[in-house]
Amino acid sequence: MKITLTQNKKDKPEANKLGFGRHFTDHMLTMDYKDGAWQEPQIVPFGNFSMHPATAVLHYGQGIFEGLKAYKGKDGSVSLFRAKDNFIRMNKTAERMCMPKLDINLVMAALIELIKIDADWIPSEAGTSLYIRPTMVATDEFLGVRPSHTYKFFIILSPVASYYANGLQPTAIMIEDHYVRAAVGGTGEAKCMGNYAASLLAANIANERGYDQVLWLDAAEKKYIEEVGAMNIFFVIGDKVITPQLVGSILPGITRASAIDVLKAEGISVEERRISVDELEQAYNAGTLKVAFGTGTAAVISPVGKIGLHGKDLVVNNNQMGTLTTRLYEKITGIQNRTIADPFGWVTIVK
Ligand SMILES: *Cc1c(COP(=O)(O)O)cnc(C)c1O
Repeated sequence: MKITLTQNKKDKPEANKLGFGRHFTDHMLTMDYKDGAWQEPQIVPFGNFSMHPATAVLHYGQGIFEGLKAYKGKDGSVSLFRAKDNFIRMNKTAERMCMPKLDINLVMAALIELIKIDADWIPSEAGTSLYIRPTMVATDEFLGVRPSHTYKFFIILSPVASYYANGLQPTAIMIEDHYVRAAVGGTGEAKCMGNYAASLLAANIANERGYDQVLWLDAAEKKYIEEVGAMNIFFVIGDKVITPQLVGSILPGITRASAIDVLKAEGISVEERRISVDELEQAYNAGTLKVAFGTGTAAVISPVGKIGLHGKDLVVNNNQMGTLTTRLYEKITGIQNRTIADPFGWVTIVK
């Protein structure tokens, strides 16, 4: 691997001004694909790309990404959470989008090297972390719809604040019954760029109505709950924990899988099955809808306090963070920060 260190180190943002995805470290990883093979990865000073205006990704959206985090422990050690699972998922997404697969061991080693070089950018205040964005884009300079022959893979790093600047605040989500995110057979289970562009209009409408995010339904019947668009969704109805099963249109979240494993280890089984809006509404009316929360790398566990349905709100747990949600948040973030033991083998020590 070729490493070129910057001569112009940037000032680091103050911990209370981090925000999310606004600041980037001094270096990035890049690796080009041409002539049917990945070329040597390089660590270079963080900087702009120069692109031909006909670059394929700019027109036809053949681009994919991942999101994961590195954490600085109290002892100054640095660790990654389930990073290999992100690259396994990226390879699945690549397959769906006719893009080349990564050598997972190679990109893991390259990522670890990059993080070591920029380790002093990782904030250590409670809840903060280093957000990692691996990305792959089609780079053929050509107008025409076909898979590109050349690609650029890159990883950029962004120090981020706790998702919850003011403590864990329940979010309000709106059930969307007109627009759809993904259909079975489409790209819903792939982390590809176009999915997010397609979700913006519904998100804007939800925001205008006072909701934070959209709760998507299945595209065929608009009857079954799928996910929140950057988070998977869980409900507790009676004494059962339920999450929509991965039917092909839902992104297989790593935090989702982690939450299921943590609950299982506590002796709580999670039902992965279809759950309809009708079932949710009936449970609400019967008083058995106890808890709702989302899972995703950015927020980890996000309590849901209100679910908008046909102009009315299903208020969950008095719009408060419940005990199960709190416990899950503390357990998963504890494993990530290495303040509690990791019985699952999820953590990779970087240094
Ligand atoms: C990334 C993502 C998630 C969450 O996945 P994690 O691996 O838990 O971060 C959920 N839904 C969508 C659509 C996503 O893009």
